[in-house]
Amino acid sequence: LQDNIQKLDGYLARFKNTGVLNQIGGEALPAQSGEAFETRSPVDESLICSVAKGGAADIDAAARAAKAAFPAWRDMAGAERKKILHRIADAIVERAEEIALCECWDTGQALRFMSKAALRGAENFRFFADRAPAARDGQSLPSPTLMNVTSRMPIGPVGVITPWNTPFMLSTWKIAPALAAGCTVVHKPAEFSPLTARILMEIAEEAGLPKGVWNLVNGFGEDAGKALTEHPDIKAIAFVGESRTGSMIMKQGADTLKRVHFELGGKNPVIVFDDADLDRALDAAIFMIYSLNGERCTSSSRLLVQETIADEFEAGLIERVNAIRVGHPLDPLTEVGPLIHRTHFDKVTGYFDIARQNGATIAAGGLRVGDTGYFVRPTLFTGATNTMAIAQEEIFGPVLTCIRFNTEDDALRIANDVPYGLTGYVWTNDLTRALRFTDSLEAGMIWVNSENVRHLPTPFGGVKASGIGRDGGDWSFEFYMEQKNIAFAT
Ligand code: NAD
Repeated sequence: LQDNIQKLDGYLARFKNTGVLNQIGGEALPAQSGEAFETRSPVDESLICSVAKGGAADIDAAARAAKAAFPAWRDMAGAERKKILHRIADAIVERAEEIALCECWDTGQALRFMSKAALRGAENFRFFADRAPAARDGQSLPSPTLMNVTSRMPIGPVGVITPWNTPFMLSTWKIAPALAAGCTVVHKPAEFSPLTARILMEIAEEAGLPKGVWNLVNGFGEDAGKALTEHPDIKAIAFVGESRTGSMIMKQGADTLKRVHFELGGKNPVIVFDDADLDRALDAAIFMIYSLNGERCTSSSRLLVQETIADEFEAGLIERVNAIRVGHPLDPLTEVGPLIHRTHFDKVTGYFDIARQNGATIAAGGLRVGDTGYFVRPTLFTGATNTMAIAQEEIFGPVLTCIRFNTEDDALRIANDVPYGLTGYVWTNDLTRALRFTDSLEAGMIWVNSENVRHLPTPFGGVKASGIGRDGGDWSFEFYMEQKNIAFAT
């Protein structure tokens, strides 16, 4: 731990000197208003550094820079874009330690998980780099009188708005395909965790990305974020965040007819039938809610367990939840670090009282840890029913709500009876049931007898209030590109 803290101090020194600046047209700039805000660590609430508080004027400058850079980037051969994106991936790997330590200090996420985040970010760049040369490929569709030729063109400058929970990985996930498609980007990262977005952008320019192709404007959602969604030169908004923010963005973007792609909240069920491999199901259920502090869109925050095995399964859960190590995020042994900030901490701990008022049982946790920082004990609610707020609302913390069911029909009804539909996890050794159940389960992504394992060519996204559109594979290009059909008379 001490070693990591010392290394972190070295990496933070430059931020302490200059603060986190915007990057517009290749220039590091403070906000035009001269305003800045503070970013603090959730570990001890200490000041990390100041951050440029961008507003509409900075967004306008960034959108103009992205527009000016667009034609050259669009027309660069895909094979050239591929080389640059691979160089970005190489540089991410070289700076993986810096990225991981800064991300942990900024977000409170534990190093054991974040040490892989930079490498996943690099993989995202490599995956889309390899697809850049063929991104514009189309097909020919001859008719008796016409030769139709289809192709794809990048849509133009795009806005990317990201949340605070895993800011580095999510930024790469949205920006890499945009660049591979030939779009230019204005990125507005979350105000609560701005460090690694700045490092990532610097890596990209040092790797040879032309100036203005990727612009960074820090600031708050209600000014910088809003201005980005309303800017006429920005053709599409890729947004990751809360469902209600997605709905605001849709309204804000209506006047300029923005194309939107939303990855939003979840209240994802893990459903455990009595014929499942219970040990593996237990491990996966624990991992999917208590890793990444439970601040994870795909977390399995509702456990639906069959009555016949519920006592045994809940006993196993309680034992494991109580053994989870809460601590300093830079300690390699820590499993759960502090929550991102005071307001979120108050929201998550507020559900302890709500659970009691609802009539559920706090079977583990339900406490804050220490007097400074936003640490909470991993928490398990049992005896819940699906109408309770703890079963319906996204808590976005290390908090699992356990609901019992009797039949498969009950399980399906409960699983689908929420506004969200991002992921689902089904544990059963009955193949026919797995097929039947997953067919009716309302979710964009479902894993059977597995925790969430991401495979980049597959579609990523949610249904209902969990999102609009899909990422991954060619689906990302569908969003960042326009189809064009040219018909030649024969
Ligand atoms: P948030 O919606 O509060 O903020 C996300 C981003 O939107 C921030 O950069 C914020 O500044 C910006 N923003 C806020 N108001 C805006 C506005 N009016 N116009 C434009 N931008 C605005 O979300 P959060 O609290 O940062 O993140 C947590 C949420 O993100 C959770 O709901 C979680 O489930 C979701 N999430 C979803 C996925 C997914 O893939 N589905 C992944 C990660 C997180």
